[in-house]
Amino acid sequence: MAKKTAMDTIYYEAHGNLYLNITNQCSANCVFCIRDFSDGVYGYNLRLSHEPTDDEIIRELEKLDLSKYKEVVFTGFGEPTIRLDEVLGVTHWLTERNMAVRLDTNGHANLINPDRDVVSELKEAGLSAVSISLNAESEELYNKLCRPVYDNSYQAMLDFTRSALEAGIQTRMTVVGMPEIDIEKCELIAHEIGVDFHVR
Ligand code: SF4
Repeated sequence: MAKKTAMDTIYYEAHGNLYLNITNQCSANCVFCIRDFSDGVYGYNLRLSHEPTDDEIIRELEKLDLSKYKEVVFTGFGEPTIRLDEVLGVTHWLTERNMAVRLDTNGHANLINPDRDVVSELKEAGLSAVSISLNAESEELYNKLCRPVYDNSYQAMLDFTRSALEAGIQTRMTVVGMPEIDIEKCELIAHEIGVDFHVR
């Protein structure tokens, strides 16, 4: 099932979760980004004709039986923290309804929103988990594979991970399984920080 606003898929179901697709913008341009190879995932077209407001998202969520999902996950075809206020508003609305909410992110949030205390605001909104794309064992490889917009994105991503952990948000790092990436070294980085690790 996918619910559309006009032509857009702003949510979709998979793995017992509800996934939210609220932007197609990103602060990276990863060589492995699925946006370059497909219009969507699981048969859902994730290209948006416009970015939904938090009111639009909540209006759609109100029509669903949320109790059947394990968690609601901000993910989709872009970096959710580019729309930080919408992430916060919808997270707050969901956590008031006892839903677990996860953010899948590239970890650039503090570069994207330099005047904000992003992790504190996410924690305050009730975010329960965050999954951060580590993607490389070195800054050099990261810049080659992820082609981030901002300088120091690799360091910002590592700092964001530490902050999320310190804030008490359940935190994990992920990598894409591809030959260029040293999975074992990435796992070591995650474990040295003290977070879970997942190959996606
Ligand atoms: S961070 Fe995610 S959405 Fe952005 S380019 Fe990389 S894979 Fe695509």
